[in-house]
Amino acid sequence: MHLSPVVFRRAFAAPLAVAFAATIAVAPLTAQGTATARRAPVTVHWLGHAAFEVISSGGTRILIDPFLTGNPTTPDSLKQLARYNGATKPAVILVSHSHFDHTQDVKAIATAGGIPVVGPYEWVATLGLPEAQNRGGSPGGTMKFGDVTVHLVPAMHSSDPGGRPLGFVLEFADGRTLYHTGDTWLFGDMSLIQELYHPDILLFGVGGGPYTQDPKTAAFAIRQYFHPKTVVPMHYGTFPGLATDAQVRAAFAGDKRVVVMTPGQSRTF
Ligand SMILES: [Zn+2]
Repeated sequence: MHLSPVVFRRAFAAPLAVAFAATIAVAPLTAQGTATARRAPVTVHWLGHAAFEVISSGGTRILIDPFLTGNPTTPDSLKQLARYNGATKPAVILVSHSHFDHTQDVKAIATAGGIPVVGPYEWVATLGLPEAQNRGGSPGGTMKFGDVTVHLVPAMHSSDPGGRPLGFVLEFADGRTLYHTGDTWLFGDMSLIQELYHPDILLFGVGGGPYTQDPKTAAFAIRQYFHPKTVVPMHYGTFPGLATDAQVRAAFAGDKRVVVMTPGQSRTF
């Protein structure tokens, strides 16, 4: 087939030019989008059980599932609730579900500091907080606090009285993400959480007993569904009947991504 120069330009040259422009436009974005290229540190502070403070690179402090004053593994200094109303006051409290080992100190901390509470819609409504602090939601919901976007995702558990259980995906300014599972068994939609949010850091419930997935099932779920850089096991060793530190270490032996923390410890990723 012979094409005149004009037809050639119309048929091929213009699309090629567009394709070339797209290539040079996309290339720098791809480089910037690589998490390691401009990774901004995120601090994970384990308060014991499922309770964490997560501090973004921009200084946004997020408190998750604050079960502190009655938590046998929480260091005494972190049980002083006034601590959460000073320099370390969180921008928001995230609550995965209604059970006491995730909610015990929510109302006291939220009320003292005027802090918004995000959790199952019906459960948050039971707290009777002022409207500005009453930030209930459901799976699929998204909210922004400082430089952190919070995505509400499902969990396979219960939350009576009050709504349905949640997990949380935190999305940071550098594009990296952290997934706190809440209490759950593994479930097939974890593959969608991976596909949508590709979590880099997993705060993964592993405690077993009567309530949640055990360490071996959690390790299986991570192999099956996720490709994280870092895994922090949680929700174990708090009460008799939950998995022990030794059982957790055994289930994840050899997995260099797994960081077994102790309550009160901070790690920056
Ligand atoms: Zn629990």
